[in-house]
Amino acid sequence: MELVLASGNKGKLQELRALLAPYNITVYSLADYPDMPETVEDGSTFLENAVKKAREAAAYTGLPALADDSGLEVDYLNGQPGVYSARFAGPQKDDAANNSKLLRLMQNVPWEQRTAGFRCVMAICTPQGEVYTSEGTCRGYILQQARGQGGFGYDPLFYVPEYDKTFAELDMSEKNKISHRGKALRGAVEILAKMAQEK
Ligand code: IMP
Repeated sequence: MELVLASGNKGKLQELRALLAPYNITVYSLADYPDMPETVEDGSTFLENAVKKAREAAAYTGLPALADDSGLEVDYLNGQPGVYSARFAGPQKDDAANNSKLLRLMQNVPWEQRTAGFRCVMAICTPQGEVYTSEGTCRGYILQQARGQGGFGYDPLFYVPEYDKTFAELDMSEKNKISHRGKALRGAVEILAKMAQEK
């Protein structure tokens, strides 16, 4: 079976290739289709955006496509920044500016009310119009100041009590075990393995 990953992200592609290695699935990326128009991520949920990206990639390439969408949902902020996580502080998608804005909005909020979760939704769409989805979440707390050097985005502010570490203090394999993306990806791999068997 062949699959196209609807993302230009090399890290995600590498991760997916490694997880799919035991199955007979050849993984392409949008780098293999440089002329495909970029999908406009204008959905109001992670699910809408993931399905839109996967559907457009499947239609363009003629192959089953997998796409994901993810972000941080802070309970005190009624689920913000959510689908706007990358652009929270503006269209420049600046991680440092996003983190500063989050810290400012959470100033003086007591610990018990600093709960938050990362969420990731993955969608697999076939050129025939079938849609499959999987989801992963990871719960934690928003710290008062950044901790750790690893990761990206909101990682230095996201504290996981089970590890007594922020996402930015976990190494990649630890993060993948518990992260929203790791969980969603393992769900997606199960779906793809079944699809590959049926081929
Ligand atoms: P995307 O789904 O890869 O486009 O991610 C959307 C945005 O959500 C990122 O730009 C980050 O701001 C945030 N985000 C998603 N996953 C993570 C994560 O694992 N760590 C930190 N930030 C994340």
